[in-house]
Amino acid sequence: MHTTRTLAILKPDCVRRSLSGEVLRQIENAGFKICAIHMQQLTRTGAEAFYAIHKDRPFFNDLVDYMTSGPCIPMVLEKQDAVGAFRILIGATDPQDADEGTIRKLYADSKSENIVHGSDSPENAQIEIAYFFGESGIPTDIK
Ligand code: GDP
Repeated sequence: MHTTRTLAILKPDCVRRSLSGEVLRQIENAGFKICAIHMQQLTRTGAEAFYAIHKDRPFFNDLVDYMTSGPCIPMVLEKQDAVGAFRILIGATDPQDADEGTIRKLYADSKSENIVHGSDSPENAQIEIAYFFGESGIPTDIK
């Protein structure tokens, strides 16, 4: 396994509840390097585009409401097998099903408001990184 990247988002509930610092601490303690980060307010159109894969799901409107309910913090993370390692760190979508010690188990309140996003495949990580950060402006090879 070599160093790869994933796209993470501290979702609006994370920012609203002043948990961003704690969650970033957990991410860095787990060995991820932050390559790029900013705060932004997603527009409705932007959230609908980002979650287009879920557009036919019954919770799509609630998901867009949630993701546009306040600023969020997208970031690019680097680590060996970053996508898989980050999914393990955050735990299952529903915090009730998440393993002990995972970020969602520690901080999330519900399956819908679950604190953090992580790309689910290397292909989607590339698309999601480009969505938030474009192809340029990200430092290479952070050690
Ligand atoms: P993830 O990859 O673990 O984030 O999970 P999914 O890709 O399945 O879902 C995307 C996001 O939609 C989740 O992180 C939740 O914020 C939200 N979500 C998933 N399932 C539900 C649901 O049943 N109801 C609502 N309101 N939101 C959901």
